[in-house]
Amino acid sequence: MSKELDQLIKLRREFHQFPEIGWGEFYTTAKIADYLAAMGFEVLLGKQIIHPDFVRGRDEKVVNQSLERAKAQHASPDRLAQMDGYTGCVGVWDTGKAGKTLVLRFDIDCVNVNETNDPAHLPNQLGFRSINDGLMHACGHDAHIAIGLGTAQWISRHQDQLHGVIKLIFQPAEEGVRGAAAIAASDVLNDADYFAASHISFCADSGTVICNPKNFLSTTKIDIRYFGTPAHAGAQPHLGKNALLAAAHTVTQLHGIARHGEGMTRINVGVLKAGEGRNVIPSSATIQLEVRGENKAINDYMVEQVMQIAKGIAISFDIRYETEIMGEAVDMTNDPELVALLEEIALQQPQIRNTNADYAFNASEDATILGRKVQEQGGKAIYFILGADRTAGHHQANFDFDERQLLTGVNIYNALITKLLG
Ligand SMILES: [Zn+2]
Repeated sequence: MSKELDQLIKLRREFHQFPEIGWGEFYTTAKIADYLAAMGFEVLLGKQIIHPDFVRGRDEKVVNQSLERAKAQHASPDRLAQMDGYTGCVGVWDTGKAGKTLVLRFDIDCVNVNETNDPAHLPNQLGFRSINDGLMHACGHDAHIAIGLGTAQWISRHQDQLHGVIKLIFQPAEEGVRGAAAIAASDVLNDADYFAASHISFCADSGTVICNPKNFLSTTKIDIRYFGTPAHAGAQPHLGKNALLAAAHTVTQLHGIARHGEGMTRINVGVLKAGEGRNVIPSSATIQLEVRGENKAINDYMVEQVMQIAKGIAISFDIRYETEIMGEAVDMTNDPELVALLEEIALQQPQIRNTNADYAFNASEDATILGRKVQEQGGKAIYFILGADRTAGHHQANFDFDERQLLTGVNIYNALITKLLG
């Protein structure tokens, strides 16, 4: 095994042991920041890269628990202070020579999965399983961190061959598509000419790179909360304002939103919680839902309808309400120039045999928000899938992947950097 691959595997296993859920990646961020700084990168943290008004689905309780655990696990107090409550970091490498700006994005969060105890599972065999109960890197974002840091290492050693600026975004809270909007709203991408991001494994085996996955669905995750007035259900029901009933009406109306004639839409109310007790007029209700659309315009139509219904029901029941966007992603079309370039690069990797160009993603990924911002300001963007054999599906307790592909990932990014900034 090459020394380079050996180092990448070590990194991946190190981060695998300390999985953290979205907006709670304090230990992870501190470690990444230290690695980047040691290589000579300028490191941006906290509100330098996160616009608090666009932070989606950040649960203060989860944040505080994660922060306490990171402290107990000896995360650098200086780094924690610099984060100011907001995880994720950006490493900036300025070659000092005129040129383009390339932004790469790597997501760093884990999922709420308890890692399997099966002794055959490699992390158990080799002693690098999650030490955080109920949390696991079961989507392969530990691989993304390792590939990002491996790429950083390469950049620091090839600075004399490069022009322009490279920014490496280590993004929090991809799960639930919660993290990208806040980074997009910061200044990080303002000077970006190129953007690239990827996911490991997913549907592609080792030896494959899907250079142009299609059908990224636009989506918005929304919470609706109703605040009514409690009252005695027998003696004074007329004094109550029924939040549960308002929520029930909302759910049926939401599912009745007229379909859009120009493209696919989806809506799902996944959670409805309401009421306090059998004999009390219910004074509180929460609805968790998501909409999706074939493109941003159609998804925006669904969001508008949801907001209108929430408001209308609140008025008719004479209760207070609030809505909160908990996550979002948009559709994105890869720029053909970058697809062609990536295909060329991928096929130069000795282990890559297939660059299957036609694959429908049919899911959501918030890197699209970042990619689209770059495209809207005149730049070019690509999202691709780096194949890796897996032991189980993503988000399963025995998920693991072919670690040799870490080096493939780094080599592809290095070649992309050389082509764009060389
Ligand atoms: Zn993932």
